[in-house]
Amino acid sequence: FQSRSIGSSNEDTSTMLLSVIDDEDERYRGCEPLRLSCPSCTNTFECPAVSSLIASLSDPNEGKDATVNFWRRMRCPRCPDDTDECRVSPAVLANQIKRQADNFINRYYKGLLMCDDEGCKYSTHIVNLRVMGDSERGTICPNYPQCNGRLVRQYTEADLYRQLSYFCYVLDATRCLDKLDQKMRLPFEKEFAVLNQTISSAFLEIQRIRDRCAFGWVQLTDLAVSI
Ligand SMILES: [Zn+2]
Ligand SMILES: [Zn+2]
Repeated sequence: FQSRSIGSSNEDTSTMLLSVIDDEDERYRGCEPLRLSCPSCTNTFECPAVSSLIASLSDPNEGKDATVNFWRRMRCPRCPDDTDECRVSPAVLANQIKRQADNFINRYYKGLLMCDDEGCKYSTHIVNLRVMGDSERGTICPNYPQCNGRLVRQYTEADLYRQLSYFCYVLDATRCLDKLDQKMRLPFEKEFAVLNQTISSAFLEIQRIRDRCAFGWVQLTDLAVSI
């Protein structure tokens, strides 16, 4: 394995930086992205995780094709540069992430139930069921005895928790930086310190929502996500 030992330190660094981002991407696969809407033109765009800033800061070609990382300017990518109204302020960011978290929480509470028997296709909303009973293990399908299936949640508490954890991850600048070792962290520290101040209120808000949800649930033991 000659090639392994020859690899330049530069390559090692970028591999390491990429791995920081990749394993999180894997963990939150299937989560919906954080979507921000521009206060000026109301266009929506996907907000990348703060960890994407690390890759962007270490890429000398960044910005040449007009796709500057969102976190460097925190403004709508479609509005012209000379307008200030399209800036995503700390308050706007906190409001929008809270609203989206609320939507996911509503989706959970209005939960769509579907029969787990593929041939049955019965579905209903939890609010339509008089007695919800033990929803986690599934209520017996109303088509019984023709169907032996059980009604199970389409959107589970694990889904919700993972989604809210993903939003936390998107804004968690401290944790992102902590994953780099001391030496590699250095070039990013200043930028992240500034960023941290800007996004801290939104981050604390989404963390609070996530933790409150977790607290409300009895069964958190079978979660796929470890914190
Ligand atoms: Zn805009
Ligand atoms: Zn059924």
